[in-house]
Amino acid sequence: MTFDPELATQAYMATLKGAARARSDAYFEGGYWLILWGFLVTVGANLIVLQLGWAARLSAWARSKAGPMLAALLFAVPYLLIVTLITAPYTIYTEFFREHAYGLSNQNFAEWGGEQLIVIAADTLIAAILWMGVHAVIRRWPRGWWVGGTGLTIAVLMATITLAPVYLDPLFNDYTPLPEGPVKTEVLKLARANGVPADNVFLVDASRQSDRISANVAGMLGTTRIALNDNLMKQDINEIRAVMAHELGHYVLNHIWKLLLGMSLVIAVSLALVAAGSPWLLTRLGGNWGIAGMADPGVLPALVIVVSTVFFVATPVTNSLIRINEQEADIFAHNAARAPDSFARIAMKLSQYRKIEPGPWEEIIFFDHPSGHTRVMTAMRWKAEHLGEADVR
Ligand SMILES: [Zn+2]
Repeated sequence: MTFDPELATQAYMATLKGAARARSDAYFEGGYWLILWGFLVTVGANLIVLQLGWAARLSAWARSKAGPMLAALLFAVPYLLIVTLITAPYTIYTEFFREHAYGLSNQNFAEWGGEQLIVIAADTLIAAILWMGVHAVIRRWPRGWWVGGTGLTIAVLMATITLAPVYLDPLFNDYTPLPEGPVKTEVLKLARANGVPADNVFLVDASRQSDRISANVAGMLGTTRIALNDNLMKQDINEIRAVMAHELGHYVLNHIWKLLLGMSLVIAVSLALVAAGSPWLLTRLGGNWGIAGMADPGVLPALVIVVSTVFFVATPVTNSLIRINEQEADIFAHNAARAPDSFARIAMKLSQYRKIEPGPWEEIIFFDHPSGHTRVMTAMRWKAEHLGEADVR
């Protein structure tokens, strides 16, 4: 008897249908528009801050209080908080009400809001420190600043990734060693077989936020850890093995470094465009805004508009950078866990909130993970080519 991967994939696809499929399509396709709206909301909020003269007034106040270095920090903190306030209704709709409308959140408003306050505090602090550094570089090298600015941005990004598992993540969830039992035995077996230190594997209580099945690799430079979430813990043992093998793939294939390299290019291009375009922007509009030039720390909202535009246009590039890593991790998972049907079942469960069968361009532009169809098809092709091998589960 022959095994046809196409037919097997179609059989899996047929298990998600009717209202459930319409719902996950609607949730995910709505997300396409949110990329556009999120961009427009960011640009709008920054135009308000510039156009109403708030940036100019905040900058004058900051410069009257401190030298240029500290003035950049004094400008950035209130500016970032004002933008957060202007965009708050949009954030509350997209991240709280919309998630609830699709049954994807386990938090009430107070729990969600409390977490948001921590996120805002951390983001504001990190962004303000980054601006202090970047603005110092701009003042010193008015032409070539974007090179140093890119280096500094990557350094801050790396510091954030390194410190997050130690100082940030524990503010939202409890990370505990895996409890004794068959799951721990199997996961550690997989970890050791692939050269991943076993004491880097944790269980996280993600059901506090939602019922989403997930696991992740976080940290770098010695803080790297893999966390399996408690929603995944409730699944079948071979499904857990398949997901953990995928995460081990990210670890073993050094995806964090590849991603950083890709992001460095996107950041370098966006800052180079800012450096090239901002003199033009400021001579045209700087007068209205009361912003004299790049030496004024109040120029930040104008820079944010240009950087947001580049990142908006680069959405297919950043999505593809991540999605290619995810596809590699999937293939690693098949070779390590050797459980293609368990993998396919998990891919079907994840398709409750990710459109399962997009068109090819739709997947390239909007997907930061392979679609359910791509994942099941890859699993079934692997199965077809390893039929009858001893340890395939
Ligand atoms: Zn992944």
